[in-house]
Amino acid sequence: MRGALAIRQPDLAVIRAHALREYPCECCGVFTQAPDELCVTVHPCTNILSRRGAAERERGPCDARTAYLIDPRELARLLAFVEATGRVVAGFYHSHADAAPSFSPADRQGAMLFGDEPDYPEAVHLVLSVRAPGGARGRPCVAAQRAFRWSQRSAEFVPVSLRARGRLVVVDPAACPARTACHGVDRVEGQQRMARIPRWQSKSASPCRCAS
Ligand SMILES: [Zn+2]
Repeated sequence: MRGALAIRQPDLAVIRAHALREYPCECCGVFTQAPDELCVTVHPCTNILSRRGAAERERGPCDARTAYLIDPRELARLLAFVEATGRVVAGFYHSHADAAPSFSPADRQGAMLFGDEPDYPEAVHLVLSVRAPGGARGRPCVAAQRAFRWSQRSAEFVPVSLRARGRLVVVDPAACPARTACHGVDRVEGQQRMARIPRWQSKSASPCRCAS
């Protein structure tokens, strides 16, 4: 089945906590998956835009409140791990602060850096909407979450269902989670410190992905 995947509920909780922790900035991360497994491993990443100073933000249209850019060094290490282990990049997640969990034009642009098809056509993109009811003094919460995937037929990113099944959130409801093993969050974190910079280096200058 094409790109079926599932996120364990505890891992989804980590993603949501990551989104809340970064609010009012956007969080970001990557899903990787072994070929014979349904459950993904979640790799929270650093939105490098959050490290920009006020002066830099003045010069550029994007900052971490409305965009994200995965730290290229973290991504290089992650992709080296993927290449070394035969895993695949199964998807990405990021949050929108005080904005709908849509797949924005900027998200689309960021996912299609090299042509008319996505760089990762099988990838699932999970977008979380974080809002603080009552304004800045309100306690932020994850108001909604949606997943998207590239559709060859419509040549567009389309919503895909997220369904809870036991302790899993399954992106493709036809998949059978009972047959597969699962990994947890950050199982590879800290294991790969390779200096090698694979092809992703060419993507490290990817544009900001503005939220709305
Ligand atoms: Zn976005």
